Amino acid sequence: MKKTALITGILGQDGPYLARLLLEKDYKVYGMIRRYSNPNFENLDYLGITDKIEYVEGDMTDQSSLLNLIKTIKPTEVYNLAAQSFVGASFEQPILTTEVNSLGVLYLLEAIRMFSPTTKFYQASTSEMFGLSNKNGYQDETTPFHPRSPYGVSKVYAYWITVNYREAYRIFACNGILFNHESPIRGKQFVTRKISYGVAKIKLGLANEIRLGALEPRRDWGFAGDYVEAMHLMLQQEEPDDYVVGTGESHSVKEFVELAFKYAGIDNWQKYVKIDPRFKRPAEIYDLKADPKKAMEKLGWKPKVSFKELVRMMVDEDIKRLKEELNAKRKKA
Ligand code: NAP
Repeated sequence: MKKTALITGILGQDGPYLARLLLEKDYKVYGMIRRYSNPNFENLDYLGITDKIEYVEGDMTDQSSLLNLIKTIKPTEVYNLAAQSFVGASFEQPILTTEVNSLGVLYLLEAIRMFSPTTKFYQASTSEMFGLSNKNGYQDETTPFHPRSPYGVSKVYAYWITVNYREAYRIFACNGILFNHESPIRGKQFVTRKISYGVAKIKLGLANEIRLGALEPRRDWGFAGDYVEAMHLMLQQEEPDDYVVGTGESHSVKEFVELAFKYAGIDNWQKYVKIDPRFKRPAEIYDLKADPKKAMEKLGWKPKVSFKELVRMMVDEDIKRLKEELNAKRKKA
């Protein structure tokens, strides 16, 4: 029998990469989208899979829509990627963030418990849950949580309710505690894409500055295409469990900036980068660095794309796509 997967957050960054992987493995993929007058399929188009997915409507804040979906589809696997996922916005909209990221997960787990208890469940947990906490500079599955944003706090609830449904109801539920992962389809408000897109615009003479909140924070950055493989592997194990997924290296925002300008062939990045207090977080996390030993040993997972390759890929793609857009506009004019 063909396996079926329901992916929430299908229009985001990870949804399309995961959908492509599952389609390659011959899954039938359902993608949950919110009620929109005009949904944005740009990221799925980028991977060329828009018409290979069956779209279903649902909203993480609407319990009835989730109940109906699980009752009707009874998928083999659910990947819950939907979230208000921008840390900065979680300070502006903490209640919405909690409704989507915390309560939404409970609604989904309740739907599985009631209507499809053999469905396997993946929860998109995050290194933001660790916040200030580390063990000798690294975070692994045993590191205590100390989140520093409403986003991080909302994901801690989601993490524990996922563990609780596994322990209380024996649902095959896993947390992937993923460190930052990026790609050419990362949302443009996230710092890596803000930099790669900003550099591309400067290169093509369309902008003359990039405004950032801080250059010092360090993150463990990997490629989204690699990380969705770990999500899938978690649900193929004998027993459900939680895994940290990252590269084991951290780099500063400044390093990302320097490399991005270098790859675009622009000297003196300092001329173009402005520090703007509007983008500073009320509470910052200074260093996140994974110890992904458990995922490597038990899942046999490892990242393939290096930090340098990731920066180059994002800058090259943004320059290429902006050039194509400019050419298309010129042709129309
Ligand atoms: P993303 O690009 O922001 O995508 C999130 C998706 O969630 C969007 O497609 C959005 O839909 C959807 N969504 C938001 N509110 C919703 C609601 N009320 N009901 C239904 N859908 C809703 O995030 P991502 O980078 O792909 O990340 C996927 C997941 O992994 C998220 O849960 C994120 O928190 C988590 N995570 C990400 C990273 C990372 O570095 N990328 C690291 C750790 C964990 P619209 O398109 O309609 O807005």
